[in-house]
Amino acid sequence: MTYPVTGPVVGVIGGGQLARMMAPAATNLGLNLHILAETPQVGAVAAVRTAVVGDYKNLDTLREFAAGKDVITFDHEHVPTELLHTLIAEGVNVQPRPEALQYAQDKLLMRAAIERLGLPNPRWAKVSTLTELLEFGDATGWPVVLKTPRGGYDGKGVLVLESAGDARERAASWFNQLESRTDFSSLLAEEKVPFTRELSALVARRESGQVIPWPVAETIQVHSVCDEVISPAPNLEAQVAAAASEAAVHIATELGVTGVMAVELFEVPGSASGFYINELAMRPHNTGHWTQDGAVTSQFEQHLRAVLDLPLGDASALAEVSVMKNYLGGEHDDIFGVYPLAFSAEPRAKIHFYGKEPRPGRKIGHVNVTGGAHELEQLRHIAANAASILRDGRPL
Ligand code: ADP
Repeated sequence: MTYPVTGPVVGVIGGGQLARMMAPAATNLGLNLHILAETPQVGAVAAVRTAVVGDYKNLDTLREFAAGKDVITFDHEHVPTELLHTLIAEGVNVQPRPEALQYAQDKLLMRAAIERLGLPNPRWAKVSTLTELLEFGDATGWPVVLKTPRGGYDGKGVLVLESAGDARERAASWFNQLESRTDFSSLLAEEKVPFTRELSALVARRESGQVIPWPVAETIQVHSVCDEVISPAPNLEAQVAAAASEAAVHIATELGVTGVMAVELFEVPGSASGFYINELAMRPHNTGHWTQDGAVTSQFEQHLRAVLDLPLGDASALAEVSVMKNYLGGEHDDIFGVYPLAFSAEPRAKIHFYGKEPRPGRKIGHVNVTGGAHELEQLRHIAANAASILRDGRPL
């Protein structure tokens, strides 16, 4: 036996905060987490014993990284699926598999799959020209949301068009750029959904079939960036919550997802199921960070169990309510200098820092708080106050 004693070796492609937050779960279980990091500065490097730096788009780098690993999984969804198919053909255990991952990489594929599964999509169309977009908008009514099928995040790659005139003015350049793109040749047009709020249905599935959902959460975006999550979603009709969970379980099963998947939803009261599906993410997700302190099994532990095809843990909530608040880089860069103030002001706050340089506007950490349903507004205040101190060095 070699010491220290460690179990299966899990290789994570990408060294951002999601990989970083898998590390405590891996340590607790005695798993050996290796990271393929983009640069030596990314957050996960400091959290694991073994990190190598390399380009995840280079097949030889991936091959070398995969050697000797029990499973390869991801911190992000950007690894080209052709490379993953090659690794699998050479005997590497990649989870989730590219056949599933493609639905998180490509919104056009995702829309078609959701339709095939009979789940609620907004009205949508694949559009390759401005004329097709105008036809879609005239048929469904304006405004219309235009999206790049690949590579978008935090609202980048999303354009809301108010009218046909607006589309002519602002969408033309989006179609012009299609000629020079190698990763996609059409765009996705969607009706602008009149949602009352956004929800997240988080599930985990292991390869042999077990699927477990966490309670459905409410997610609040500011400038298209996840700002706050409340779990379970307050005042969500039980029937809608159950249908959303069921939809997520169905998607995970039918698409053969392994690991954690977040299904982002729009709540639309009065629609047939009460919600529409927005998009899928196949990895631990910002909307699931509350599970670190608010669920029996966190999304990071569950992801590791799932990709190793081990029995999943209980996903029940530990408290009546959990609140997660993100904090961005703000008006100071002495993150540890403000800890005394944050810790003393909000002793109930569980602070998670991603080890990133605190540049303004960059997501650098989050705060979790759990408690009783009767104190929801107080919990939100605690989380927001701690986040404010961490961001700007001063309380609300
Ligand atoms: P990203 O991949 O950048 O997260 P999304 O597709 O989730 O992009 O869109 C970002 C945000 O834009 C969503 O959180 C939502 O607020 C808004 N949005 C996206 N699609 C629609 C839509 N069809 N109707 C209304 N709002 C939308």
